[in-house]
Amino acid sequence: MQEKIFRYPGFFFQSRTLRRYPKPVAAHLLGYVGEVDDKIISEKPYYQMGDYIGISGVEAAYEDYLRGQKGVSIYTVDVHNRIVGHFAGGVLDTTPTLGNDLVLGIDLELQEYGENLMKNKIGSIVAIDPSTGEILMIVNSPTYDPNLLVGRVRAKNYHKLLFASGKPLFNRAIMSKYPPGSTFKMANGMIGLQEGVIQPSSAFPCAGGYHFGGIKVGCHSHSSPLDLVHAVQNSCNAYFCNVFRRIIDNPKYNSTLEGFNVWREYMLSMGFGRKLGSDQPHELSGNIPTPEYYDKYFGKNRWKSLTIISLSIGQGEIGITPLQLANYGATIANRGWYYIPHIIREIKGLPEIPEKYRQKQYTKISKENYEYMVEGMELAVTGGTARIAQLDSIIVCAKTGTAQNPGKDHSIFLSFAPKNNPKIAIAVIVENGGFGATYAGPIASLCMEKYLTDTIKRPDLELRMMNANLLKPEPKKANDAQN
Ligand SMILES: [Zn+2]
Repeated sequence: MQEKIFRYPGFFFQSRTLRRYPKPVAAHLLGYVGEVDDKIISEKPYYQMGDYIGISGVEAAYEDYLRGQKGVSIYTVDVHNRIVGHFAGGVLDTTPTLGNDLVLGIDLELQEYGENLMKNKIGSIVAIDPSTGEILMIVNSPTYDPNLLVGRVRAKNYHKLLFASGKPLFNRAIMSKYPPGSTFKMANGMIGLQEGVIQPSSAFPCAGGYHFGGIKVGCHSHSSPLDLVHAVQNSCNAYFCNVFRRIIDNPKYNSTLEGFNVWREYMLSMGFGRKLGSDQPHELSGNIPTPEYYDKYFGKNRWKSLTIISLSIGQGEIGITPLQLANYGATIANRGWYYIPHIIREIKGLPEIPEKYRQKQYTKISKENYEYMVEGMELAVTGGTARIAQLDSIIVCAKTGTAQNPGKDHSIFLSFAPKNNPKIAIAVIVENGGFGATYAGPIASLCMEKYLTDTIKRPDLELRMMNANLLKPEPKKANDAQN
């Protein structure tokens, strides 16, 4: 071709690289590249028409490392447009440099396993190594084969995926916000301890729930009264309603507003209601409501702790992303600190990963107060609501959650293991999956078992989870059929 191309003015050779994914997993976290448009070129003069750029995931976050540096060669051509040599002996040429190879902390086997468990379900799994902040897996379901967004077929496939049912392009793990349900109780319990409005021994009665001034927050049956650790173990709603009211109505503060702002600051310090700053682009901040929101909704000075009591059990206006939930698990596992969660483990050629991922972030809760939550979560597994998470010879700590929403409840599970020197913290959300222990619990537990022991001793449970199809329409009731 090189000899003949002079016959085709306007045509020239251009080589390009194409991504290839040997395993069709981890689509959202890896992201994809696409051709630059006018807007990108006007903002970033480095790029020229025809260049490719990372648009999402690792491709976007580490574009500057992955792309390397373009080189320039200026040639002299003859009258037939054939290259005869470098212009001016090549003094104006620059050498291109290769991009850096990246090593990710993702455990490929675990990632694949999680994606298989989440088939035919909608939701997300995020697992973090608490000791490093490295993300071990990010599962979004439904997902897609990353090979679909490579090369010429990209535009066509992108359009298809954009309108596919279940929104497979949507990165739920970092963008979707869910009410955390009962997994939020530890956060409220710790704030109560830190503020001194409860002691670990403080006990509150529960008679089928919390009843006050016409407000009723129901609870399931359990022994009563319970202290803090056992309230976590049994997930008592009444207990945390009491704790929450003491935090907000603390006489130390002058108003509901002041008490609420103190509560809110603690929540922000735990990584809720703000972006964590991970290396997954497009991360959203979830929601910890502001006083302004309630002022607007109820009127200024017209809301009290009782008005917003559902925050005590992780319902109401709170929205937590799966990434934030997993990070909260890692923080409990570490008894009070976390590294900003990140995908990257190593940038080849550089001595270290960016500094922000190497700095410990501390919450406003002391280590001692975290210990009580660890105890409660351990008891939840040995004899409470999270028994599904038990593993042979490994002490697991966990908490179930069931999040009310307009449809069927979301199934939520938060856990970490082992109790001492934790190696994995994991958050699972299965939309419309019912109780936390129904789907999210078993899926989290199987992932931990796989990661920590490399064998699954509960093949029946594994099979049941893999085969569970929550996308099937509900079987019609007899009455419906008659209609
Ligand atoms: Zn209760």
